[in-house]
Amino acid sequence: MESRTAEESIAAILAGETSSAELVEDAIRRSEDDPWGAFLARDGERARARAKEIDAAAERPPLAGVPIAIKDVLSTRDLETTAGSQILKGFRPVYTATCVERLEQAGAVVVGKTNMDEFAMGSSTENSSYQLTKNPWDLGTVPGGSSGGSAATVAARQVPWSLGSDTGGSIRQPAALCGVVGMKPTYGAVSRYGLIAFASSLDQVGPFARTVRDSALLLSHIVGQDPRDSTSLDWWKPIEMPTAERLDGVKIGVIQEMLDNGIEPGVKAATEAAIATAEGLGAEITEVSLPSSRHGIAAYYLIAPAEASTNLSRFDGMRYGARAEAEDLLEHFERTRGEGFGPEVKRRIMLGTFALASGYYDAYYARAQKVRTLIVRDFVAAFENVDLLLSPTSPTTAFKIGERVDDPYAMYTSDVCTIPMSLAGLPAISIPCGLADGLPVGLQLSGPAFSENDLFSAAHALEQAIAFDATPAGVA
Ligand code: GLN
Repeated sequence: MESRTAEESIAAILAGETSSAELVEDAIRRSEDDPWGAFLARDGERARARAKEIDAAAERPPLAGVPIAIKDVLSTRDLETTAGSQILKGFRPVYTATCVERLEQAGAVVVGKTNMDEFAMGSSTENSSYQLTKNPWDLGTVPGGSSGGSAATVAARQVPWSLGSDTGGSIRQPAALCGVVGMKPTYGAVSRYGLIAFASSLDQVGPFARTVRDSALLLSHIVGQDPRDSTSLDWWKPIEMPTAERLDGVKIGVIQEMLDNGIEPGVKAATEAAIATAEGLGAEITEVSLPSSRHGIAAYYLIAPAEASTNLSRFDGMRYGARAEAEDLLEHFERTRGEGFGPEVKRRIMLGTFALASGYYDAYYARAQKVRTLIVRDFVAAFENVDLLLSPTSPTTAFKIGERVDDPYAMYTSDVCTIPMSLAGLPAISIPCGLADGLPVGLQLSGPAFSENDLFSAAHALEQAIAFDATPAGVA
């Protein structure tokens, strides 16, 4: 069966050309045929039952029974949820994350959980303690991370869309490397109830899809306040399906810092071509500087580990998942955490604990927070003059498996273009804008808080004009 986008799938179901059962069966078959290693857990039986129920219902729910995959950082009741970590091996949550529950209520059918860097720490999915995920464009390269499985599964046409989480770039960067659309909403837009926390002042859930419209459709069903997450916002304006074909009068600022240092020539060329396309559609292009953004990585790698070090203290072998054999309580904690966490997670816990230690707090954590404020101010100043900002999503295309895994600093630089928006809590979207040496390049558009509709609208117009054929060879 030919793969359809989510919107096409819904239309085909409503026209009686296919059914949820048929689409879900196809997605299950595709998820089982998984040379990319995108899936960790599958839920065929429950998915089949749910599809049948939706097909038989008197009234079709809005998402009509279209299959979806979920990053393994989101809790799914009775379905193993590991966050890519051995410490949660065998953990079956007793409840489902609000965002997943909302999608199920809207008629999406969960077929499985996707691979990820352990606790969402990484940029290549190589930090998963279970398996590698391979980029469908070139099996020798990484899919990006941490939501590598969710990006790869959409690129590989196993499912039309998926959910991921983004703390410093984990939706946008893998979307860029896999040639799909990835969107990180405004901080607080989507409930994090049931999201296994990494860095709570940064974490957001968002969609992966093949088109900007599918991305908007998915987001429209998960935004909104949730009494079980006090940081979730009362979302007063509905997410609209974008239709714009032009960008007349839209002021777009090109972020200077993100076109110069360390950007691969092929990425720069594709970005410049996209800028020319935007201009052709009527956008007013200017240059914008975010001077403090160059300190983004340094600030992020103090703030995110600091928050992670406290968030991950709950994994003690008492309440969830794996439990090591031990003689006494202290040994129990030490062995469970020593054996259960992988090297990157331990590195972050140590970094974060150090940054928060009383003698170092002001020098590291407090200073990083001040840098964060400066970055926020840079954005505020920029949005006085422009509507949206544009940059590459990732400085490079997909890199080789193994290339950066022993060099944390090289891995950390993958997010140089995405971290500033995360620190400022802003929405941003990555769309494919072309190829460099046969691998996809992602274009990032970002906007002020709550500018989701404007972002989708501009991204849609650009996507239509760029008309990138984002199907990897060998994928149908
Ligand atoms: N690559 C970044 C990190 O390792 C971002 C990860 C994320 O957004 N979850 O922390």
